[in-house]
Amino acid sequence: MSETKKDTSIKFVQCVASCSIALNLFLALNLYLGSSGKVINNQLSWSRLAAEEAELAASMDCSGHGRAYLDGFPIDGKPVCECNLCYGGPDCSEFSPDCPANASGGDPLFLEQFWREHAADSGILVAGWHRMSYSFSDQTYISQQLDAHIRKLHNVVGNAVTDGKFLVFGAGSTQLLYAAVHALSLPPDNTSSSSSPAQVVASIPYYALYEMQTDFFDSRESNFQGDAAILINNSDVTTNIIEFVTSPNNPDGQLNKPLLKGSNVKTIYDRAYFWPHFTAIPNPPAHEDLTIFTISKLTGHAGSRFGWALIKDERVYERMTRYMQLNSMGVSRDTQLRALKLLKVVLDGGGREIFKFGYEKMKKRWERLTNTLSLSNRFSLQKVSSQDCAFFRTPREPTPAYAWVKCEREDDEDCFEVMKSANIIGRAGAVFRADNHYVRLSLIRGDDDFDILINNLHKLVSEEGGVSETM
Ligand code: PMP
Repeated sequence: MSETKKDTSIKFVQCVASCSIALNLFLALNLYLGSSGKVINNQLSWSRLAAEEAELAASMDCSGHGRAYLDGFPIDGKPVCECNLCYGGPDCSEFSPDCPANASGGDPLFLEQFWREHAADSGILVAGWHRMSYSFSDQTYISQQLDAHIRKLHNVVGNAVTDGKFLVFGAGSTQLLYAAVHALSLPPDNTSSSSSPAQVVASIPYYALYEMQTDFFDSRESNFQGDAAILINNSDVTTNIIEFVTSPNNPDGQLNKPLLKGSNVKTIYDRAYFWPHFTAIPNPPAHEDLTIFTISKLTGHAGSRFGWALIKDERVYERMTRYMQLNSMGVSRDTQLRALKLLKVVLDGGGREIFKFGYEKMKKRWERLTNTLSLSNRFSLQKVSSQDCAFFRTPREPTPAYAWVKCEREDDEDCFEVMKSANIIGRAGAVFRADNHYVRLSLIRGDDDFDILINNLHKLVSEEGGVSETM
């Protein structure tokens, strides 16, 4: 072969080799970056479609009275508005004036605006292969990152000591409340119980779920006994007693303390509302044997179903962990990912932003409510006193999640019905085992629900006579 021919074939082989490398690189990148293979907006590839889908749903115009979700029923491939109560039409712009105010449930949509303002830092995009296993790599059901962020959050807010405590996660605090009853009602030595069942109590007015769960699960180990007050001065120390202490309390917002003491008494602190949105955070932080928290009333993400328990005693921790294992094999890893992202936003800037937003929103709502009811002799509100707040470093009024309204007239025996006839749906006192002269009105729902509530309350109060229509 002549030198020139040899050179040409070497060049040809080199060219084929480099073309093949380039082709392989292209194919590998294509495979790695996704089917489109395009590198768009700083290398977005497989996530681009998901992001576009999410942005399309978020951009739907629902007139400020609804929102479109990714998992709603699309029409012609487009997400559809889901309207707030009392609003309708394709863009939720049609208001039904006679529609009742829903002040019944504790849906915490009062924080929705905050999350809309933090769309960019709070969104998550979940890959199709995200955490498919039953457990994390350390064989637990708990994200260590999330565990660390929860501890940091309590340090920043100053509402609970976490040092030396164990953490258990649950599908909302709902799952943990019964896990705690189970763990505390077992005899200390873990043997099957031969002693009498634990008596579960709470102070009236109390959150109905404690009673409903204990009755419904109907275990040999515990019975619901009702009002904690009936066990004061009880000298029987052989029976285990479990007292729920809800602080701040649902329905009346009081910072409840345990009523019962003794070697046979165990306390479950339900601190769903122990956040600066609702109450002053006293110093020192809570340092209790078993305390339950939830993101439902902290970030407002009730739908994500995430709560946690802080536990001092290792044996109680093990029993609750076992309960979680047998009941649901821990909390959804997708939920844990979302909770982590939300807590990162909460922690940004030392938590100031979300708690300022939440407190100011609640404060304005309480001002509107008290202004409206100040015109009335027929209805009164619970008294909650101002306290020093270690978080805001100033004294402040409590701004509870619920108004605990009393119908003062003797013959208004059913305050729920009085409200209902004024087109307001609250929750009757009897649901909390209290007198039906009381009704609970939820103040943490969305802005539309709250506006309609105030409007209808104002009409009701105006009918008492001599009150002007100014709001
Ligand atoms: N405890 C209290 C006092 C509550 O008011 C609620 C919700 N309304 C819960 C627990 C349950 O909350 P979640 O299961 O959403 O965490």
